[in-house]
Amino acid sequence: NKKTNKLQQLSLQNRMPAKERILVIGACGQIGVELTLALRKIYDPQHVIATDLRDEHPLLKGTGPYVTLDVMNREMLHVLVIRHHITQIYHLAAILSATAEKNPALAWHINMQSLIHVLEIAREENLHKVYWPSSIAVFGKGAPRQQTPQHTILEPTTAYGISKLAGERWCEYYHERYGVDVRSLRYPGLISYKSSPGGGTTDYAIEMFQAAVENRKFCCPLAPDTRLPMMYMPDAIRATIELMEAPANRISLHSSYNLHAFHFSPAELAAAIRKYVPKFEICYQPDFRQQIAESWPESIDDSQARQDWGWKPAFDLESMTVDMLQNLQQWKK
Ligand code: NAD
Repeated sequence: NKKTNKLQQLSLQNRMPAKERILVIGACGQIGVELTLALRKIYDPQHVIATDLRDEHPLLKGTGPYVTLDVMNREMLHVLVIRHHITQIYHLAAILSATAEKNPALAWHINMQSLIHVLEIAREENLHKVYWPSSIAVFGKGAPRQQTPQHTILEPTTAYGISKLAGERWCEYYHERYGVDVRSLRYPGLISYKSSPGGGTTDYAIEMFQAAVENRKFCCPLAPDTRLPMMYMPDAIRATIELMEAPANRISLHSSYNLHAFHFSPAELAAAIRKYVPKFEICYQPDFRQQIAESWPESIDDSQARQDWGWKPAFDLESMTVDMLQNLQQWKK
């Protein structure tokens, strides 16, 4: 009898992913493409619905359903959730840090209103889970810049950071007040090669790799010693899925978890690249992004994520550099 029970339990567990129907909003972005592909490996690809404002990303074509969606259109979002029997939403659409500084009011409007749409629909439709990413931009200058703690002064000075901090508060609010199981990570700068970055302050790192592989000189928009926390995309995708798969009793934070892998300055990244591309040349022309970067932490204390749901990064600067260069070389061919 015990054995039968165990088997039933196992079969239930195995069937769990099949029951879930996932909507990814912002699926054609830097994170969205890779996250959608990763989710389609775990769940029935037909049950992972990718949506974005833009045309379907070439890497998503043929891998599962795609619907064009403006997340600002609450009605259409609601209809999609009902029509596809959605149980989980990953909401990735946003205006990123550097773009947000060019049009702060628009960034606030889109970043906030879209999140409220998602949280409201999650509440009304009793969705199982919601994922929404925050960022290291929430801290601002008042927080310690090294090993920035989970709970510290949060005084963001950028439009993007203000919207992320408010978003975190809304996530916790919907969890506390309505019991919505919303989960979130404060991503550091994410480095990847598959889909282009969308206007963040840490995009320079990806552009530096691309220049190195194409034998171009790179003019960096940040000063050589501007250190920022960073993470390689495979780690970010794994962190996201591990957080979402963790049992509810392991999640003590429904605002957003600090997350860390490694940190470097432009000069240190250039040196890491030069080990493999000795002729790589760099110059420095700091622009408005310098100010954004200076208001952000240099490294992050993510012990709460490690403790609660066992987070551990796999890539460091060296292994990420090797992998990035290899993959970009291959993509060039
Ligand atoms: P991205 O800009 O590459 O992708 C965002 C996607 O959202 C784009 O494909 C865009 O077309 C789509 N989008 C924009 N407005 C939309 C709308 N109204 N309706 C539907 N889709 C819309 O961004 P990303 O780097 O993939 O970031 C995803 C999330 O992660 C964002 O919330 C971002 O703030 C957060 N984040 C990213 C980083 C990073 O380094 N990439 C770091 C911290 C946090």
